[in-house]
Amino acid sequence: MNSLNIRLPDDFHVHLRQGPAMAAYAATTARRFGRFMAMPNVTPPLTGPAALADYSRAVAAAVAASGYAATPLACFKLTPGMGREAVFSCAAAGAVAGKYYPAGATTNSSDGVPEPSAVAEELTAMQEAGLVLSIHGEDPSAPALERERAFLGVVDSIVGSYPRLRVALEHLSCAESVRAVLAWPERVAATITAHHLSFTIDDLLGGSLRPELFCKPVLKSAADRAALLEAAVSGSPRFFFGSDSAPHQPEAKAAGAAGCYTAPVALSLLAAAFEEAGALDRLEAFVSVSGARFYGLGPNPGVLRLRRESWTVPASVDGAVPPAAGRTLAWAAERA
Ligand SMILES: [Zn+2]
Repeated sequence: MNSLNIRLPDDFHVHLRQGPAMAAYAATTARRFGRFMAMPNVTPPLTGPAALADYSRAVAAAVAASGYAATPLACFKLTPGMGREAVFSCAAAGAVAGKYYPAGATTNSSDGVPEPSAVAEELTAMQEAGLVLSIHGEDPSAPALERERAFLGVVDSIVGSYPRLRVALEHLSCAESVRAVLAWPERVAATITAHHLSFTIDDLLGGSLRPELFCKPVLKSAADRAALLEAAVSGSPRFFFGSDSAPHQPEAKAAGAAGCYTAPVALSLLAAAFEEAGALDRLEAFVSVSGARFYGLGPNPGVLRLRRESWTVPASVDGAVPPAAGRTLAWAAERA
């Protein structure tokens, strides 16, 4: 197969940052995705309707300036003490999800959730409002490679305590998580990134260190990658795409910041991974259908065209180094 047209995809997990840099990041995502969910770990955090509305306006303006037709989706940050009314107000302000960051787990999460009981009132309100609970599932006190597995019990307790709450476990990184998702009820789904489907910890640090592949959760073993790929190509509606594309400027990366700027390369990486698995025909379900269904959204109107065409990933895009920088990829993606 040398070309493939799919319905315009969605990205259910992207970091667009804020300030002047946002314009370029938003344009790079809007160029390829019909909808995308902007994550709320900005400063100050999006913990109430006013901050959420301000940020949504900034994102919408950046997308409009890009010239691409794309729809941002809003997500607030769940913090202890936020309160029930703030949850309903965020829903009224357009949020489709609220994000649970375990305190200290990742970028700008020191104000996150120490334990689920600290946000019981808010989780009850989210369940009532029909909002999706989006979870960064890592226990920051566990060893680096075991943090996701160590947090599965917490997710299990949330799933059990809120029987109607819809849950999206973000950026799966290990085989145990795939098994856990399949064992939970169908109201629990998971996103998988392009980098976790394409790279392993040996790509990150088996040779020269490649900081552009350093993210949280950290890339894992070849067996974990194989389990993630099997889940992604399975056609199960429980697994869908969220890039977790997270640009950092070189100074921040040099200081050790976690995050992969995959927006410019994600669809090319995905096409290669699905082709490797002999499942290019399942790519559309993963990036354009299953996530939209989980979030109760209709199909995107546009079409994305994937072409088998070698191209070399630039050393830098929008000031950040993307994964596979300087390497040749086999698939190119653009709106039809
Ligand atoms: Zn993220």
